[in-house]
Amino acid sequence: MRKKERVQEILKCLDEYFGKENPVTLDHRNAWELLVATILSAQCTDARVNMVTPELFFKYPDVHAMAEADIVELEDMIHSVGFYHAKAKNLILCAKRIEDEFGGKVPRSIEDLTSLAGVGRKTANVIRGNIYHEPSIVVDTHVKRISKKLGLTKETEPEKVEYDLMKVLPKDHWIRWNIQLINFGRTICIARRPQCQNCPLSHVCPSRHLEDEK
Ligand code: SF4
Repeated sequence: MRKKERVQEILKCLDEYFGKENPVTLDHRNAWELLVATILSAQCTDARVNMVTPELFFKYPDVHAMAEADIVELEDMIHSVGFYHAKAKNLILCAKRIEDEFGGKVPRSIEDLTSLAGVGRKTANVIRGNIYHEPSIVVDTHVKRISKKLGLTKETEPEKVEYDLMKVLPKDHWIRWNIQLINFGRTICIARRPQCQNCPLSHVCPSRHLEDEK
């Protein structure tokens, strides 16, 4: 099977298996809340972040409130998500810059988003895809690992993986590729014990035989 046909088959199977509607699992009501939740989710589970954000959004309901936050009180509220010193500092700096430079509105372009404290391409692409519906590929640990297993990239640097995927995936699959692969990585192509026998992609996965031999 040629690469293009293989990619089409992978996409068809993922859609059949996980559906086309794959909302982000971080609870939010607007762009600012998703940005805060995504910054907090670095090295932390979405479930843990979702436990912290209701109280956080109640105390700091918008960009302005966060820009004025007392850092010690903020650190205390987000303590359980880890790296709370850096995350608290970034949230306040980020809010101040959005207020000063972007009129209080979370920006849309990758350049503006990545100019914010604590925001790299991954976080920027979460916002672009889920808030502004701009085709964008979020490369996290699951996307990196599984895209490589499926033979769609040889790279390990997230930015290079992103560019490789942009070349082979049709744009209308960019946003859901991340959410589908997170679900796939948690349930079937699990890092330490991939379930190749039950995998809906086993007929198009070049890594299957490597896993079978382990
Ligand atoms: S066949 Fe195995 S290695 Fe390939 S995608 Fe499926 S679970 Fe992962």
